[in-house]
This record gives sequence, structure tokens and C-alpha cells, in this order.
Amino acid sequence: MATFFQSVVRLLTSPPCHTSRQGFGRGSNKNNNNNNNSPRVNNGAPTQSPTAYSHSSGLMNSPSISSTLSVDSATNDNDSVKYFFQEKYAPLNVKGNFLTLCACPKNVELGEWLAHQIVEQNRLLHGMLQVIQEINGLTGLPICNEHTCPTMSAGRLTYTWLVDGRAARISAPKFINRVEKWIVSKIHDPVMFPTESTSGMSQLITNGGNSTSPNDPAQDWIGKASGFPQTFYKDCQGIMKQMFRCYAHLYHGHWENPFFHINKHEVLNMCFVHFVTVAKYYKLVADKEMEPMQPLIDIYVKQEKIPPEALAGHWAQQPSTSTTASTASSN
Ligand SMILES: [Zn+2]
Repeated sequence: MATFFQSVVRLLTSPPCHTSRQGFGRGSNKNNNNNNNSPRVNNGAPTQSPTAYSHSSGLMNSPSISSTLSVDSATNDNDSVKYFFQEKYAPLNVKGNFLTLCACPKNVELGEWLAHQIVEQNRLLHGMLQVIQEINGLTGLPICNEHTCPTMSAGRLTYTWLVDGRAARISAPKFINRVEKWIVSKIHDPVMFPTESTSGMSQLITNGGNSTSPNDPAQDWIGKASGFPQTFYKDCQGIMKQMFRCYAHLYHGHWENPFFHINKHEVLNMCFVHFVTVAKYYKLVADKEMEPMQPLIDIYVKQEKIPPEALAGHWAQQPSTSTTASTASSN
């Protein structure tokens, strides 16, 4: 029977505005041993004023996203334990090798395939972002809000948004919202993602596209045969970089609350491994950009959940690109 003291302790150790109400009703196998080895609730209340970097107006028409990031020495990150960097919290909810899902099938033009991968990665990320965008019934606020996340941080890093040539700190929910809208606008842009590719279809078979390297001269480029613009591969890199930043924030800001508490951390892990496999295989996100998540990536590389073929990359498989897929499918 719970005493009043226990109830108070429970209240004090539970974040007042971070947790969705249904959260504690799920994942009961985790709740039983929550006192010792499992991550405890880490109240991520910001130590800095939520208005310190609040630029609530004038940014909605931001034409682009900053490619820079800055070290935010004001974060309270040092005192929080990174459970998500520990192997015992790194399992996935599925088994298998994601290379089988991301390796470009023979006779499919690489541009077409990358477009498909981008759309799929956006779908997976969107599902995870919806978890932190859910409204907390007690506070009426999303789990990730202006108070919990006054900046778009991932550990000691704060990502900034480029506004009129200046890097501006905006809250994580604003940043994520703009990233999502920006990605959707890219995907729906008929120039970047042409849907009428009939002129390119006839070339798919003869020009498999697999030989096109990311650094080819201007005369040829990934997706050219399917009608994608010359900037297509670079645009894919830009999209994937911003997606990575969202994952970094999901882990650093919300792994415990809500993902671990609602037993969705394994799904998050699955989406992240899938994402990193695609990112590494097609060299879409620079290694340096991935540093905020490097310890977890190292775990998955060691476990070969991110297989060596993914690290070697798509272009390392030339000319026998089908070898990777057939090998991977045996897992
Ligand atoms: Zn957040």
C-alpha cells in the first residue's frame, strides 16, 4: 500500500510536465525494476529562462536552415546520465539487417531509389516526432515544448536556425516544426522530387545509375536519368542532416521521457539504426555531424546491426552491387 510519503516521492521524481499520462500505464515490465538499474526520471527542467532565446516572431519565413551548429555552454547536460548510450538499453524491437531495405535494387535508378529512401525516412522520423508532440493532458502542452526545450539541443550542442544570414537559437519545437515543413516542401517540390518521370523511365534499365558517384562532374549526376535536378543528391544530404538533428534531440532531450517510460525506446532505436544505415551507406550525413550520437552508433556498429557493408558504402560495392543485398538478406 502506498503511503502518503511514497506518493509524494513519486510525484517529486516524476516530471510534472514532461510525461504523457498514458505513459506509466505501459511497459509494465520496465516499471517493476525501476528503482535500481533502470533509468530514473531525470527532470529536464531548463535552468535557463525559456525566453532567453525565444524569437517568437519574424522567423516563419525562414528561407533556409543553418548548416552550422554551436556549442552551448549553458546547457544543463553534464549532470544527466546518457542511458541511451549504454548497450543494455540499445536493443531494437525487430531483428534483421536494414541494408536489405536500403540497398538499391539492380535496375532501379539511384535517384529514384534515394527519393524513395528519403520519403521512407521522413515517415519513420515523423512517427517518432509525433510522440514528443503529443499533448500532455495535465499541462495542455506538448511533451517537447518551449519550457522543456528552449533551444534545439543535443547534449552540449545547440543547433541554430539561419535567419537572414544569422544563426538564431529557437526552441526545439519550433525548430522541429520548421524542419518538418521544410522537408515536406522539398518532397512535394516537383522540381526536386519530380513525380512525372516518364521521360526517365526508359533509361532506368539501361542506366542503372549505380555507377554514378556522389562526386561526379557536372555532366552526370545522381538522378539525372530520372529527371532529378543536379542538386538532388546535395538536397538529400541537407534533408538527412536535419533529420539526424531531430533524432539527436529525441535521444538527448526525450529518451527517458517519454520514450523509455512508454516502452517505445526500442522502436526509436529501430528507426535510428535504419536511418544511420541509409545515411552511412549513401554518405548522406557526414561523420562529424553524427558525433552527438556517436557512442550509440559505435554500439550498433560493434553489434553489426549497422553492418560493415553499410559503412563501406554503396559505391564500394561496384561493380557487383547485388552482392550486398543478397548477403544481407540471409540474416
Ligand atoms: Zn524537446
